[in-house]
Amino acid sequence: RARAEGQGTARFFEPGMDAALSARHALEGALRHAAAAEEFQLHYQPVFDIRSRRLLGFEALLRWSHPERGPVSPAEFVPLLEETGLILPVGAWVLRAACREAARWPAPIGVAVNLSPAQFRRGEVLEAVRAALAESGLAPGRLTLEITEGLLLEHTETVLETLERLHGLGVCIALDDFGSGYSSLAYLWRFRFDTLKIDRAFVREVRRDGKAAAIIESIIGLGHSLHLRITAEGVETEEQFAALSGVGCDEAQGFLLGRPMPAEQAAALAAEDGVQARAA
Ligand code: C2E
Ligand code: MG
Ligand code: MG
Ligand code: MG
Repeated sequence: RARAEGQGTARFFEPGMDAALSARHALEGALRHAAAAEEFQLHYQPVFDIRSRRLLGFEALLRWSHPERGPVSPAEFVPLLEETGLILPVGAWVLRAACREAARWPAPIGVAVNLSPAQFRRGEVLEAVRAALAESGLAPGRLTLEITEGLLLEHTETVLETLERLHGLGVCIALDDFGSGYSSLAYLWRFRFDTLKIDRAFVREVRRDGKAAAIIESIIGLGHSLHLRITAEGVETEEQFAALSGVGCDEAQGFLLGRPMPAEQAAALAAEDGVQARAA
């Protein structure tokens, strides 16, 4: 659980820098092999409508098991995929696999795919999305692309243009981890997102910290006035769910409602009625 926080920072204070470096090279080698052999998997985490409690869709999350070490957190290997450029073939595979899977679910249940900034650099992402939609036959409106603020910090003009083109294909665009980074309101002006996903750092504090609750409430107000849907991520308790519902949040995702699960399980959940599907 500590994985997400402090991972990269801790490494710099370790005594054996050489050891850390060679471990990293070994991991890189294993990732290259995994990319070539398409050894990655996707798990799917359900997202629910708070008011109706119906299943809206799933977020596709990349999973990788190192042959000796076992499962490695994406917080550790996604940055390595980005640095090595492997995110291009792997990211294209994620799009294809997620769309193919979603096409098996009853409409309008959708799928969300996370994109890395590197996928935007030379317009690769536009082609990858087109190909994934064409191959799977998935209606574009059932695909959401999640991007983070980091992407908007760099290359703004090209990125905005690519986002417009993606929007033109009919897919939805979500701003992920909102509140965790710079959260510049300017981004909300420059591009019309469909969804804002509130970072789980805020959701965690929603019941304990009045300031976090006030921030969430104002993000929701702002988002709604811009006609955005608001998703809360990392909902772990009934109290958080109730608080989010109370301030008008639209969608929820988190361990309370369902953990990321293998494709078979997701397909079974998608086939059930969304009302019964809410586990809690
Ligand atoms: P994210 O896109 O913000 O995904 C949500 C993360 O929160 C997932 O972690 C999920 O397992 C975790 N999570 C969901 N509900 C809860 C909860 O209630 N409590 C807690 N503590 N955590 C919860 P995961 O799967 O480890 O992924 C971490 C990050 O790795 C993702 O964050 C995303 O930024 C990145 N990632 C995952 N798959 C892909 C991918 O296919 N492509 C790219 N570019 N990045 C990916
Ligand atoms: Mg995401
Ligand atoms: Mg997120
Ligand atoms: Mg996150």
